[in-house]
Amino acid sequence: MKVTVIGGGLAGCEAALQLANSGVKVWLVECKPIVMSPAHQSENLAEIVCSNSFKSNDINTASGLLKEELRRLDCKLIAVADSCAVNAGGALAVDREKFSQAVTKLISSHPNITIKQEEAEGFYEGVNIVATGPLTSDKFLKVLKKHSGDLLYFFDAAAPIIAADSIDIEKAFISDRYQKGTGDYINCPLSEEEFFAFWQQLINAKTAVVKDFEKNAIFEGCMPIEVMASRGKDTIRFGPLKPVGLIDPKTGKRPYAVVQLRKENAKGDMYNLVGFQTHLTFGEQQRVFRLIPALKDAEFLRYGVMHKNIFINSANLLDNAFALKSDKNIYFAGQITGVEGYVESIASGLVTALNCFRRQKNLTDVHLGDNTIIGCLSRYITTPNEYFQPMNANFGLLPPLTENIRDKKQKKEMYANRSLKEIEEIIENIGV
Ligand SMILES: Cc1cc2nc3c(=O)[nH]c(=O)nc-3n(C[C@H](O)[C@H](O)[C@H](O)COP(=O)(O)OP(=O)(O)OC[C@H]3O[C@@H](n4cnc5c(N)ncnc54)[C@H](O)[C@@H]3O)c2cc1C
Repeated sequence: MKVTVIGGGLAGCEAALQLANSGVKVWLVECKPIVMSPAHQSENLAEIVCSNSFKSNDINTASGLLKEELRRLDCKLIAVADSCAVNAGGALAVDREKFSQAVTKLISSHPNITIKQEEAEGFYEGVNIVATGPLTSDKFLKVLKKHSGDLLYFFDAAAPIIAADSIDIEKAFISDRYQKGTGDYINCPLSEEEFFAFWQQLINAKTAVVKDFEKNAIFEGCMPIEVMASRGKDTIRFGPLKPVGLIDPKTGKRPYAVVQLRKENAKGDMYNLVGFQTHLTFGEQQRVFRLIPALKDAEFLRYGVMHKNIFINSANLLDNAFALKSDKNIYFAGQITGVEGYVESIASGLVTALNCFRRQKNLTDVHLGDNTIIGCLSRYITTPNEYFQPMNANFGLLPPLTENIRDKKQKKEMYANRSLKEIEEIIENIGV
């Protein structure tokens, strides 16, 4: 049995490793470094293109719960992420270089996986898993259009990265929100006056020209900071710049607003501006973000950028196993299916591999739960929907609890317990 996985990103690598560990011979086709998307920069597989955060590890959040479900399902990439974690309070953030290198090593040393370095320009003989991601190469987009009809899209943006030694630490303080963590964030406080000066420049700053850009096609979960700021004076102060849970040791008070910086790598020589996805021109990023007092001399190692993200109309095209209804030899995985986010893409790679393997062995499809994040996300992606839009892990996907619980914390704990119980039952039945 042989499967070709097209795209060695997060979903493709997870799918390849799952299949290879089940004894399937896998061809993994990756176009880097021959063809590089505007966001990919490294030659390694499983490249993380923007923030290095896989979000919360707390199982009482949807993202934390999804990761815990994945750990129990023996997810390979989450195991690597855990082993490359950098301190980030309650979040799972990784050293992106170490993460990609470790995944590349796992794949290239696997006896059942052959890496083919080429740009796919069509499908391969036999079973294919398409995991070419939101920035699928132009040649393959043409193939997809032919096979899967009109493609859908949205725009999302990445945040800039700055050099640690360019931060004016005298004007910042190290602390985690509500002291949860090990001093993982550098906080840049702004007084009321400084905040309004910054806000005013931000909303009037020049944005970059993005090909085919449409303002109303921005993904809410990855809203550029300047778009969020334009919604009102206080919007970003209740969003990425919220000061709650932070006390500036110099004043003993909560600042008016705070920009948080999170470590990009284990060495701690690069920092990400948390929540500062942007589509300002590079010059404007320098000018406006340097108005934050601690960042007045910030050296930008990578500027924020905005991209058009492609996905197929999965809800109407794919069956329960993420295979095309019109061609059962072609499966899809990752963000190209409309799941949104690193962990969601990894999860989708795992689900596709599991059912692709089972179908080749004439086993019944497995649905990974009616009360789990992974099961509900998979169902959302494959349920016909006239207004299909990308989806990330959230508790709204889950069916309501049978009890009427008013306490929010207790409600989330109950969601988590119900999900993990169900995952354990499924694992026992299918023997993951
Ligand atoms: C700019 C940007 C910023 C993002 N920021 C975040 C973020 O901060 N947090 C978050 O959770 N999610 C983010 N995402 C969303 C998403 O989680 C990532 O895009 C994620 O990497 C998707 O995983 P994937 O495996 O589907 O695709 P990818 O990881 O992009 O992998 C696809 C792979 O396919 C290869 N490929 C493409 N075409 C071909 C071809 N024709 N032949 C062979 N190989 C091909 C590519 O080179 C790539 O290696 C961002 C996305 C973008 C585009």
